[in-house]
Amino acid sequence: MSKRVALAGFLHETNTFAPSKARMADFVQGGGYMPLARGDAVLSQGRDINLGIGGAVQFGESAGWDMVPILWAGAIPSAHVCKTAYESIADDIIWGIRAAGPLDGVFLDLHGAMVAEHLDDGEGALLARVRDIVGPDVPIAAALDLHGNITAQMVEAADVLVGFRTYPHVDMAETGNRAAVQLDELMARGAPFAKAFRRLPFLVPIAWQSTRSEPGRAIYDVTAAQEAGAVASASFFFGFPAADFPGCGPTVVCYGSNQQDADRAAATIERAVLEAESALAGESFTPDAGVIEAMRIAQGATKPVVIADTQDNPGAGGDSNTTGMLRAMVAQGASGAIGNMVDPAAARAAHNAGQGAVIEIALGGQSGIVGDAPYKARFTVETLTEGKFVCPGPFYGGAPLDMGPSACLRIDDVRVVVTTTKAQMADREMFRNAGVVPEDQAILVVKSSVHFRADFDEIALVILTCAAPGPMPISPASLPWTNLAPGIRMEPMGKPFTPHSERRAETTH
Ligand SMILES: [Zn+2]
Repeated sequence: MSKRVALAGFLHETNTFAPSKARMADFVQGGGYMPLARGDAVLSQGRDINLGIGGAVQFGESAGWDMVPILWAGAIPSAHVCKTAYESIADDIIWGIRAAGPLDGVFLDLHGAMVAEHLDDGEGALLARVRDIVGPDVPIAAALDLHGNITAQMVEAADVLVGFRTYPHVDMAETGNRAAVQLDELMARGAPFAKAFRRLPFLVPIAWQSTRSEPGRAIYDVTAAQEAGAVASASFFFGFPAADFPGCGPTVVCYGSNQQDADRAAATIERAVLEAESALAGESFTPDAGVIEAMRIAQGATKPVVIADTQDNPGAGGDSNTTGMLRAMVAQGASGAIGNMVDPAAARAAHNAGQGAVIEIALGGQSGIVGDAPYKARFTVETLTEGKFVCPGPFYGGAPLDMGPSACLRIDDVRVVVTTTKAQMADREMFRNAGVVPEDQAILVVKSSVHFRADFDEIALVILTCAAPGPMPISPASLPWTNLAPGIRMEPMGKPFTPHSERRAETTH
C-alpha cells in the first residue's frame, strides 16, 4: 500500500543583527527561493527546482508515495521573521497536516537558522507543533541547510534531520532526496533511529565555510564516509554565526540502527572539525588593501581577480547596497565591475535619464550601516535593462531572476550593476545582463561570501575576501552578542563568549 506523506516547507536564514525583517510579502515573493506555493502548486513548482522540496517530490513520485502537499514558503535572509508572518505560515502548515487525516510520514523542507520576533528557535517550535499533531509514531524527516543552527528541540521533535554537504549549495535537491530516502526507511521499519547530537565549541565565519576548498571539503568527506553499516544518516552543520541565541553554532547529527554506532560516527566528525579549527581561521583585507592587492595581481593577467564583498552578502542578511568597495575601487583608480548594488531610486533615475546620459546621484548606502554612506557622484548610464533573465550557472541552476529595472552605471573605469530587487550575485549572467562581460574585467567585486564560487571559480585568477563596512561582519567575534551559549568561542581560535552579567561581575571584582 502506498505511503501517505504530507510535504511542507518553511525556510529563512535569520541574521538577528541585520537591518530589515522578513514580512509575509517577502515569503510570498520568495526572493532567491521560489514564490510561496500552496497545495498542488508545491508539487508543480517545486518538482524540478534545486531545493530540498524538489528532491523529496522526485523521490516521492518514484517511490509511489501518496503525497499531500501543504505549503512551501521561503524568503531571502534578513533580520527576524515578523511574528505575524511566522504564525500565519506555521498555522497554515499545522492546519494542513491536521486536515490531511491519517498520515504515514511528514517531510519538511527547512533551513534550520530561523529566528522569529517572538521565538529563538523557529524550526524547533514548528517541529514540536507538528509532532504534537501527528503523535509519537509518525516519522518526521527534515532537509536542512548547511547553515542550520541545530537545536536539541529540533533533534528531539524530528526523527531525522539531513543537511546539505556543499557551500555553495549545489546539493539542495539531493539533500531533499536523501531526507526522503530516510523517511521512507523509517516508515518501512516502523521504529525510530538512535540519535547522536554534538555541539562544536566555536563559531565559523561563513567566508571560511566553503566546501570547495580545505578544510571544508575534507570535513564533508569524513561526514559522508560515516554513512555505512548501521549508520543511516550523518550530517555536519557549519551553522549560521549571526543568530543571537544559545543554539547558534556548528553541530553534528547522526542516526543509526543502534546508539553505539551513531555515537561513534558523530564523534569521528566532531574530531575532524576540532582538528581543523586553526585552518578555519581565514584572512581578509580592508577595502583599500584588497583593491591594491587585486590591482597588483591583475597586472598582465588574462583572468579577473574576484573580490568577495562578504560583509554585505544578501545571502546573510545584507541589503546589497554598501559602498565601501566602490569607494576603494574609485579611490585606487582600479578597473573593473561591481555587482549588485540594490538601489531602486538609482535604477529609476538611470532609466529616466536614458542610455548615455550622465546622472548625479547618491548611490547605495541607504541601510544606515556604521561606516557606510551613499556614494555621491556623477555616473554615466552605460546600459539599461528590465532585469529579467535566466541564470544558467550551477548556483541558481537555470532559475529565472527578476531584478527589476536595472542599469550599468560607470564612474572612471568602474562599472556598477544597479538593480531594483535583491538577489545574491552568484551567477555571471547577473553581470552580463547589464552589459558587463565578467570574463573581460580586471577586477570583479561580488556581494557574496561563498555562493559566487559556484559560477566564478572557473574564471577567477585569484579570490580575495574584503571586509568593507556591512551588516554581516566577517568575524562573528565582532558582533554585539548577548545570548550565545556561554563559553563558545566567537571565532576559530578566538575568545569565548561571556554573558553580560558575568562580564559586569568581572569588572567589579
Ligand atoms: Zn546556507
